Amino acid sequence: MSDATSVEHIEAMLRARGGRVTSTRRATIDVLVAGGHHRHLSADEVADEVRRAHPDVAESTIYRTLSALEELGVVTHVHLGHGPSTYHLADEGHRHLSCQRCGRVTEVPAWEFAELTTHLRETYGFVLSEEHFALIGSCRACAGA
Ligand SMILES: [Zn+2]
Ligand SMILES: [Zn+2]
Ligand SMILES: [Zn+2]
Repeated sequence: MSDATSVEHIEAMLRARGGRVTSTRRATIDVLVAGGHHRHLSADEVADEVRRAHPDVAESTIYRTLSALEELGVVTHVHLGHGPSTYHLADEGHRHLSCQRCGRVTEVPAWEFAELTTHLRETYGFVLSEEHFALIGSCRACAGA
């Protein structure tokens, strides 16, 4: 796991942005760091994992914590399909390709979208938020089947 995803790094980022590091925030960050960048957990799944380690923390507190961490730019959410949105650590920016058949999520670097975002802005004045939703399609395995 890289330094960028260490709990210490994230807590330092939180403090730098004026956020306090509470025990619930730490527990929530622990769950997301344990997932690295490659797990995308719904709020319910985050709450379940936090409560497994800290049964005394109320679910509502964990949902509020997720929103607070998102406002502070430490966590982001993405919609991968029809289900609930999923949370993960904010990073330098990866995007998502989501398979509508098997549910596999492929992460791709943000620059893959550079040409499209520039074109849409210049042609239509439209600023694309391609980080907010996954592109939906069929993964290599499903497309070949
Ligand atoms: Zn991701
Ligand atoms: Zn697939
Ligand atoms: Zn959203």
